Amino acid sequence: MKSAFLASIAFCAVLALAGGTARAASPRQFTVAGTNVRLDIDAAAFHTGPDPIVAWAKRSAEIVAGYYGMFPTRDLHIQVVPQAGDGVRSGKTWGHNGGFIRLQVGRDVTDTQLQNDWVLVHEMTHLALPEVGEDHAWLSEGLAVYVEGVARVQAGNRTQPDVWSEEIRSMPRGLPEPGDRGLDHTHTWGRTYWGGAMFCLLADVDIRRRTQNRFGLQDAVRAITRASGGLASEWPIERVLKTGDAAVGTTVLEELYDQMRDAAVTPDLMALWRKLGVEPDGSSVRLSDDAPLAGIRQSIMRAPVSKS
Ligand SMILES: [Zn+2]
Repeated sequence: MKSAFLASIAFCAVLALAGGTARAASPRQFTVAGTNVRLDIDAAAFHTGPDPIVAWAKRSAEIVAGYYGMFPTRDLHIQVVPQAGDGVRSGKTWGHNGGFIRLQVGRDVTDTQLQNDWVLVHEMTHLALPEVGEDHAWLSEGLAVYVEGVARVQAGNRTQPDVWSEEIRSMPRGLPEPGDRGLDHTHTWGRTYWGGAMFCLLADVDIRRRTQNRFGLQDAVRAITRASGGLASEWPIERVLKTGDAAVGTTVLEELYDQMRDAAVTPDLMALWRKLGVEPDGSSVRLSDDAPLAGIRQSIMRAPVSKS
């Protein structure tokens, strides 16, 4: 059952049944960042025609390859299943046979919806982490949520204020509620997706603090992907975190996991965002370069130039 569970929770994996057959799909083949992509799409099924959908797959793969310094798999098979309505509806990812992603996309999807889509970047991000088991789905989903925003900002596909406002709005849903028993034992939607993303934000900031901003979570996860080969492998979470820590010369990931795995930890998120120079401003945010950790905020969102 390798990795089938990954997307079986909540928003990244709900497979709608209506109209869900990929009839007469004609494959498109292309290469992105050295990865051979096969995209199965019924060319007549979408009002936009197939080209914007092919462009969306390429763009998403480039965004993920930019963040990881490589696309996580050498080959990738994407199946686009048409649905009634518009928008990108859901996705599901498997690690076997090089990587397989099935997407449910509305027949009336617009180019703007494809330009602004998060689902495919989220699904592709799952390919970069080894299978870590259902108790640790918070790590795979949390990384996918966190990396999606950062990677898209780094690629110019999303704005910083948009990502920080979403975090301020949604990350508190990842905080423990009464009765919480830690990330490994509390498999609610909020703790899995946003609790996991909170772990990633805390880790990113702390790695950068302890390394005088020489390294961040991005360097740690790049090393994890290179060493493991991504979702096709099955690794204990301890090995994943140790590999990431070793790459950046800290023990941040292992320490944070020790604190949060079995206990309800409630960090002061608003205080952290203020230190990073993120101030709520109506429905958006104001970014301040005078805040004590503003340099860390800028580094998180800046695409690495030549780092490994
Ligand atoms: Zn997911």
